[in-house]
Amino acid sequence: MAGKLDGKVAVITGGASGIGRACAELYAEEGANIVIADLQEGNGAVAAVQERGREAVFIATDTSEEGSCENLAALAIEKFGAIDVLVAAAGIGHAGATSDVADDSSAMLLVNQPLSSWQRVIDVNLNGVMLSDRAIGRRMIEAGNGGVIINIASIMAKVPQVGVGPYCVSKAGVWMLTKIMAMELAPYDIRVNAIGPGFIDTPMTAGLNVSETGRWAMAITPMRRMGTAEEVASTALFLASDDASFYTGALLHPHGGVFTD
Ligand code: NAP
Repeated sequence: MAGKLDGKVAVITGGASGIGRACAELYAEEGANIVIADLQEGNGAVAAVQERGREAVFIATDTSEEGSCENLAALAIEKFGAIDVLVAAAGIGHAGATSDVADDSSAMLLVNQPLSSWQRVIDVNLNGVMLSDRAIGRRMIEAGNGGVIINIASIMAKVPQVGVGPYCVSKAGVWMLTKIMAMELAPYDIRVNAIGPGFIDTPMTAGLNVSETGRWAMAITPMRRMGTAEEVASTALFLASDDASFYTGALLHPHGGVFTD
């Protein structure tokens, strides 16, 4: 049976873990070859794609660095000849701990955080998405075959929460970035959308269920459970496929019913 992404090439930042890895596996099942771009080593993700009968390559990438994103785009083209889909999933919850949950102690208040903490989160979660979109978007424009860009934002783009200020602001920025990129790239037949997941069970949220933040998360989630990375990947498959051919500038929410509007 034909896959929804047969013959496509997808670059997935943050593809070694969590939501990015689930996207890599589902996209491979649907026929895509995959570039895994991450700070973490990507052997597991590459093997998972290959087990599904598709080609995969890992490119060590720091999405907060312009040169690293340009290198990623160049090596992906060198390997596969074209890029059809970008999923920009690389992200951090807060500075100082990479794959970890934030707490809401007074040290996490914006008035008390060092500027460097704010800057690190903005550098990875907002600048990193812009730099990834830009590097890959340029290649898509050059190739002239259109494309799809999917930015992973969060419900936190719309829901403010004390203790994770830089994260909320970075994700709100990703949402506006997505709308601007959608407008700029529409003439090139490049669709740009965002996904704003609710609370998803990944390494980033490993400590959530035993924290005060975790109790708050379940209280605002009508379905009273965390989502899975696979449930977010299903949304990313929809957006990458022709099923979403008239979607651009949208923010879709796999979030178990959290009120975001
Ligand atoms: P995850 O399992 O920690 O995966 C994120 C991956 O991105 C990790 O491998 C991480 O490496 C990598 N990364 C971090 N900074 C990077 C950088 N500068 N360059 C390249 N790779 C980098 O977390 P996840 O839950 O799947 O998160 C994926 C995306 O979904 C993030 O943008 C996150 O904000 C968003 N999101 C998550 C949730 C949730 O509840 N899990 C909800 C809404 C949105 P390290 O481990 O070294 O940091």
